Amino acid sequence: MDLLIKNIKQLVTVRANGKPFKSGKEMRDLGIIENATILIQNGLFKWIGSSSEFDQPVEGHLDVIDATESVGLPGFVDSHTHLLFAGSREDEFAMRVEGKSYQEIAQSGGGILNTVRATRTATKKELKKLARRHLETMLTEGTTTVEIKSGYGLTEKDEIKMLEAISDLTDECLMDVVPTFLGAHAVPPEFKDHPDGYVNLICTRMLPYIAQRKLAVFCDAFCEQGYFSVAQCRTIFETAKKLGMEIKIHADQFTQTGASNLAAESGARSADHLEQIDDAGIAALKKSGTVATVLPGASFFLNSRYPDARKMIDADLSVAIATDFNPGSCMSYSMPMMMTIACTHMALTPEEAITAATLNGAAALGLSEKLGSIEIGKQADIVLYDVPGYRYLPYHFGTNHVAKVIKHGTYFDF
Ligand SMILES: [Zn+2]
Repeated sequence: MDLLIKNIKQLVTVRANGKPFKSGKEMRDLGIIENATILIQNGLFKWIGSSSEFDQPVEGHLDVIDATESVGLPGFVDSHTHLLFAGSREDEFAMRVEGKSYQEIAQSGGGILNTVRATRTATKKELKKLARRHLETMLTEGTTTVEIKSGYGLTEKDEIKMLEAISDLTDECLMDVVPTFLGAHAVPPEFKDHPDGYVNLICTRMLPYIAQRKLAVFCDAFCEQGYFSVAQCRTIFETAKKLGMEIKIHADQFTQTGASNLAAESGARSADHLEQIDDAGIAALKKSGTVATVLPGASFFLNSRYPDARKMIDADLSVAIATDFNPGSCMSYSMPMMMTIACTHMALTPEEAITAATLNGAAALGLSEKLGSIEIGKQADIVLYDVPGYRYLPYHFGTNHVAKVIKHGTYFDF
């Protein structure tokens, strides 16, 4: 059914004008239309403009929403999550509050391996049930597209179980779901003494199976001291690319390892985290056109160093914001909350934060031709908020202001 949304008090289009993403100063240009009307046909934006100029014939079945009280934004694109997992780690949270570091907890058998144990024990059905609950809440908070990584199985069987669960969710849920293979998330206990053997297993067994069955679009790796070296990640990425997969990377989170340079060298779609990135890394990402994805919630939750996203934008990078939702280092999937943290702790303007959470998030997933902004021909993913203006969203934090979510032309009232 066609949908007419009329008299939108303020429409934030984030229009890209044919570009794959916005970088540097362009990130402040939100393409705002006051008192706007939108016509949606067959799930796509058919007409967008000022209400006074609306001239489309509207006949037949048409739903009409009067959005006089609402501000409209593109649906959020959360381009980095680990939302498929079993168990939870609130005990580790309490330990961290009392002074133990994330790395100390990991070394004593907690951290990622704690979630690996719980996820290996869970069935595919149980994992899907847990993930579905998260996805439903995310949609009510304005997120319409989400990436989900594997990486809590770390055996051939369990990584594939995770990716099959993500694939099922892609078919069953209302959101767009993008699957990423993160077999190189941590070295599993079975390979503690010979991590290269695990890298070999990823390259010779897991990646060929996953690529052949198209179970993941991206291949990701945690490039970090105590996890996977630049050389090991390079081996994994070269194999993945030969098999037709795209690259993402967890880069420069706790230490500066040169992971951002590897991202550029590998032609990665995005380099994520970047808390410790140096000037050479920023220059490399600029040259390769790699999206710099920052994860404000991870620094906030771990009470650790923030990435210098201000510097990245000033260097004309394309910066995206995602949640990194996971049970250890960011137990939140609220994109507005991430925008607030980006503004208060990383000196982004509200305009930059909105571009980073929508269009540039879509670019980090290679989907910005199809979604991430409100433009004619793009998928009709739009969220209406009952707020005075768009700047109110990062300002009044910790509260859900969503009035309606329209995903691919279908709308949901909240
Ligand atoms: Zn992550």
